[in-house]
Amino acid sequence: MVGVNFPSGLPLGWKVNGMEVVATRARVNEAIAAETLALFRSWYLSGLWPKLATFDGGYTWRSKRGADDLSMHAYGGALDFNASTNQLGSEGDMDRGLVEVAQRRGWTWGGEWKRPDPMHFQWGRGY
Ligand SMILES: [Zn+2]
Repeated sequence: MVGVNFPSGLPLGWKVNGMEVVATRARVNEAIAAETLALFRSWYLSGLWPKLATFDGGYTWRSKRGADDLSMHAYGGALDFNASTNQLGSEGDMDRGLVEVAQRRGWTWGGEWKRPDPMHFQWGRGY
């Protein structure tokens, strides 16, 4: 697993020792590090970065929410954002621009699953 820097810091969606923490990078599988950086750049250059309110986990950065969720996070191939307003099973309020840019690059957005997980982006399709 490697760290991929955010274009600018994102508050973590959970507190650490009772304190708010700003994350500067996500941990992902080395195999998708370059693509993850490219995704962040695309979001940033499209002016969409401010639509991300919180970072809620890449590689095993939080406990499991659902079975399909766990697997891709455990492989370092998934990222969660804005969890407080995009809970598993909800429609959520994920910005559609963020979704479009990610999908154009080949990412899968969990918000379109039968059991929606709108905070969730993962690399690749067909899972
Ligand atoms: Zn997830």
